[in-house]
Amino acid sequence: MSSQLELQQVTVKYGDFTAVENISMTLQTGQIGCLLGPSGCGKTTLLRAIAGFEGISAGSIFLRGTLISTPECELPPERRKVGMVFQDFALFPHLNVRRNIGFGLSHLPRGERRERVESMLQLVALSEYGNAYPHELSGGQQQRVALARALAPNPEILLLDEPFSSLDTELRTELAAEIRELLKRNGVTAILVTHDQHEAFAMADQVTLLNSGRVAQTDTPYNLYHNPGNEFVAEFIGQGTMITVTVNAAGEMNDGLGVLDRGHPHWQPGETLRLLVRPDDIEYDEGSHIALRVMHKAFRGANYLYELLLTDGQRVPCLTPSHVDIPLGGMLPVRFNLQHVVVFEGDCPRECCCTPSTVIQQEHDGEIVSPPVLRQAQAPRG
Ligand code: ATP
Repeated sequence: MSSQLELQQVTVKYGDFTAVENISMTLQTGQIGCLLGPSGCGKTTLLRAIAGFEGISAGSIFLRGTLISTPECELPPERRKVGMVFQDFALFPHLNVRRNIGFGLSHLPRGERRERVESMLQLVALSEYGNAYPHELSGGQQQRVALARALAPNPEILLLDEPFSSLDTELRTELAAEIRELLKRNGVTAILVTHDQHEAFAMADQVTLLNSGRVAQTDTPYNLYHNPGNEFVAEFIGQGTMITVTVNAAGEMNDGLGVLDRGHPHWQPGETLRLLVRPDDIEYDEGSHIALRVMHKAFRGANYLYELLLTDGQRVPCLTPSHVDIPLGGMLPVRFNLQHVVVFEGDCPRECCCTPSTVIQQEHDGEIVSPPVLRQAQAPRG
C-alpha cells in the first residue's frame, strides 16, 4: 500500500478566523477515510482544501506524492484529478443520465467517451436509465448518477460531501454500504464528510474525528468506539455517560457502582478518575442482588434504554430487551459487565486531546491488568 493522500499540519483560515488547525492525516491507496464531527468543526473546509476550492495558510497537501497545496502555491481544482460528490447531487436537470455522466469526459474521443459512460452506468447498476432525466429518478438513483459522474474521469481520489444527507434514514445506511462495496471492488480511494457516525462506520476504514477545527482522533471505527483517546471522542462516539469515580485508600476504584476489586499501578488514593459507561456495560440480571432506581426510560423497539440512579447521585445508561418493562421510579436488577470500560485519568477537559485513555485489561509494564470485578454494590435492592 502507498499513500494516496497526505495532509501535513494543514491550517485553513477565513480572514482572522481559524477554521481548521494543524491537521495531519494520511490515506493509503484504496482506503476510504471519513471526516466526522459536529456541525462547524471544519469538515467541509478541509474537504474543500483537498479539492483546491480553499487555500491553506499553513502546511502542505500531497496527492499520490505530488505537492498540490502549500500557502504559497495551489494547484487549481481542475488539475487535481479529484472527483466530487455533493450533498444535493448537483446533477444537470436538463441533461439525461448518460450526458450527466459524460459531462467531464469531453476531452475523450467520442467512441471512448461512450464506452466509459456505459461502463459507469453498469458500475452503478443504472444501465436501463441512461436516457432518463434526473427528476425521473429516486434520490438513491440520483446519488448513484452523481457517483458515476464523479468516477468517470478516473480521479485519484473521490471526495464525498455529506452524500446521503438528503436521503431518508433507511436508504442512507443501505446506500452507504452499497457504495462502500462498489468503491472497494474498484480500488477507489475516497474521503467522506459526515456528521453521522453510523454512516461513517458503514463506509470508512479510517475515521478522523474533528473537534473545533482540530483532530480529536484518527482511527478505525472499532478503536474510536472501544479505545477513545479522550473524553470528547468517548462522548461523541456511541452512547455512554462519563461518571466520576475516586480511588480509595487501598488504591481501588471506588464509585457509585461499588468498589472495583483492584486498581491500576498509576492510581493514587484520593485521585479522581472519569469512567465511560456504555449502555451495554450494565446488564439486566433478574437474579442479581443489586438493583438501581429507574429515572428515565426510552422505548427503542427491540430494547429499552434505561437511565439508572447510582447511590452517589450519578446516572448510568442500561440497555435491556424491551420485555423488561420496569416503571419509572421502580428498581431494575442489574449486573455489571465492566471488562471494556474506559477510564480517563486526571481532570482532563473534554476538548483536551492529550490524555490517553486507559482501557482496563490492557497490558501495563508487562503485566496484564485484570478486568475489574465488582466486589460489593452499594445500592440495595428495594
Ligand atoms: P457542517 O457539518 O455544519 O457543514 P462543518 O464541520 O463542515 O460544518 P465548516 O463548514 O468547515 O464546518 O465550517 C468550519 C467553521 O468555519 C465554521 O465555524 C464556519 O462558520 C466557518 N466558515 C465556513 N466557511 C466560511 C467562510 N466562507 N467564511 C467564514 N467562515 C466560514
